[in-house]
Amino acid sequence: MRRLSSQPLALLAAFSVSIQAHDPGHHGSNAPAHQHGVGQLHLVIEQDQLHLELQVPADDLLGFEHAPSTAEQHAALAAVQETLQQPERLFRLPAPARCELEASELHSSLFAPADPAIEHGRHGEHADISARYQFRCAAMSRLQQLEILVFDLFPDSQRLVLQAITPKGQTGAELTAKRNLVDL
Ligand SMILES: [Zn+2]
Repeated sequence: MRRLSSQPLALLAAFSVSIQAHDPGHHGSNAPAHQHGVGQLHLVIEQDQLHLELQVPADDLLGFEHAPSTAEQHAALAAVQETLQQPERLFRLPAPARCELEASELHSSLFAPADPAIEHGRHGEHADISARYQFRCAAMSRLQQLEILVFDLFPDSQRLVLQAITPKGQTGAELTAKRNLVDL
């Protein structure tokens, strides 16, 4: 699958910087402190492209935040990766908008091959899992609502803080299982 194009990602990166700027307790760590149960969802619409970035504590998806060691943990991690590679399971896009996935990327320190030396150093730290998706929508004007299915799939994910940049402007919202619709 193609890599994501870089320009809108600069916008997403700006979101990430603003989030980490609120975390003075960590310096240069790949795993900024986070609150379990609370993730971030960034959304950018630019012309016919929709970018979504989901960043959640690994604990919310896996139930642990260390490199997998047991067969069960390896299987759980593989299952989460497989789920995240199917964004249609995470987000319901209105069919009339005719959005097609163009590229996706998953990132987490947990996906790296286990290195016992590094692992020891990571002990006790938090770890996030992030997933970025790039869609092209043939009828973007019909993309009027986005339904978030993450809470059904991963019940430990209780809240997503949404930041969005669309042609209508910049908005934010808090999403939960009971408030899982984003109006665009
Ligand atoms: Zn954590």
